[in-house]
Amino acid sequence: MPDKSLTAEKIEHWLREENPDRLDELWRAADETRRQTVGDAVHLRGLLEISNHCVRTCAYCGLSRHNRQLKRYRMSAAEILAGAREAMRFGYGTVVLQAGEDYGLAVEWLTQVVRRIKNETPLAVTLSLGERPLPELEALREAGADRYLLRFETSDRRLYEVIHPSTPVRKSDRVQMLQELRRLGYEIGGGVMIGLPGQTYATLARDIEWFNRLDLDMIGVGPYLVHPETPLGREEIKPEIDPREQTPATDTMAYKVIALARLVCPEANIPSTTALAVANRKEGRMLGLQRGANVVMPNLTPASYRIHYEIYPEKACLQETAEAGDSLLRRQLRTIGRTAGVGPGSRKKTERPFSSLIRNLLMKDGKPLILCVDDDPDVLDHLRMILEGNGYYAVTASNAEEGFAKYREKNPDLVIVDLMMETIDAGHLLIKNLRAMNHTAPLLMLSSVGDALQASIDTAELGISAVIQKPVQADSLLNILRAKLK
Ligand code: SAM
Repeated sequence: MPDKSLTAEKIEHWLREENPDRLDELWRAADETRRQTVGDAVHLRGLLEISNHCVRTCAYCGLSRHNRQLKRYRMSAAEILAGAREAMRFGYGTVVLQAGEDYGLAVEWLTQVVRRIKNETPLAVTLSLGERPLPELEALREAGADRYLLRFETSDRRLYEVIHPSTPVRKSDRVQMLQELRRLGYEIGGGVMIGLPGQTYATLARDIEWFNRLDLDMIGVGPYLVHPETPLGREEIKPEIDPREQTPATDTMAYKVIALARLVCPEANIPSTTALAVANRKEGRMLGLQRGANVVMPNLTPASYRIHYEIYPEKACLQETAEAGDSLLRRQLRTIGRTAGVGPGSRKKTERPFSSLIRNLLMKDGKPLILCVDDDPDVLDHLRMILEGNGYYAVTASNAEEGFAKYREKNPDLVIVDLMMETIDAGHLLIKNLRAMNHTAPLLMLSSVGDALQASIDTAELGISAVIQKPVQADSLLNILRAKLK
């Protein structure tokens, strides 16, 4: 259950936070949420970088087809199958097949590879193959692929178009593609680079909001690392922004994004990424896991290929063998009190409430929290818009039972409730339950014109402070809130 009170404004505030004590609170809240929702298991996904050919010309990435310095390769089906079996031997639950957007990997060949992995191993298969056409993604899903990773890189459309040019064939829209992948039944993973030239704090805050809006199953983020053979690396592209608004490409910034991603998408699988391990070689990977992450993707690409999968220079663990990497990782996990996950480690939907620790953390700026209970989603959206645009946090519930649970969990400053919801007396019962627990928050009742129920109830006896007519007018609601929350 994501915390909707973490608005873009609040997220931006956290992204700018530099006070070590406050940051400690953020790390603790993210770690606590991670523990409550996805537990202590760290899911290990064996990564195979199956090709470094790419049709794209992304301004940040060393795989760009414009990079003539790169020696190109493709792994054979036999090598990929051997890699999958190695993942199984290490006890990993998933194999990730990642590549540049390479149409030299024909879809017929890819579907056969996926089918063989699914037939010959118990592994979940994650694909990360770029923006392939929809029919191909459908065929791969039918062949058994379980998940698809496609970072949307930035939610700023203008910046996106500069750094991630479309091909002549198709306009690039990764957000839309993620939605299509979800419709095809994939678990979907998105994410962004942190500290991209031209990325502002406000943009990064909106990116994090998008994680929640897309209801991502997996969120991959890491610092942007300069590749000298790219237009961004050579500074041929230099987005002009106020330097005070530019996000830094640091490991600390990446921990902040991981922690906030955990708070807005508590159930998501969030890797502590290779780019983070490069930005802080000594402890980046473990700190990521202690600040919200719950996945690591050990690289199983044969070393002779791995050195050529150079999306940025000096990737972590380039020289390390798979065995050495695996035993180091397991030792490190033990040191931080975590265990290696068993099985595919898919996203699990949970219904656990937030702890008061997290609520306190999020509410520290003193904005009142308003609980709105109504079974009409349009009314809830309308209320949320009014409240969040005027200095309040809104928490919503779509029936009496959920309203009661949210009341206990969030301890709101005021409650707005529609009396007639799933049953004629649902709102009535909710109010009685609140009274039984000696609630102190003022109660406002929503009512429609001609509502027979309103005439028949004694608002004073129920402790209702005011009645608000639907459709709710912003001015009159705000006047009532100001009066009741003095
Ligand atoms: N071709 C696939 C795609 O585009 O999704 C998968 C491979 S692509 C290299 C994987 C991710 O690497 C990109 O989504 C991007 O976020 C990240 N990446 C590329 N260049 C990077 C850089 N210079 N620094 C940090 N991350 C980078």
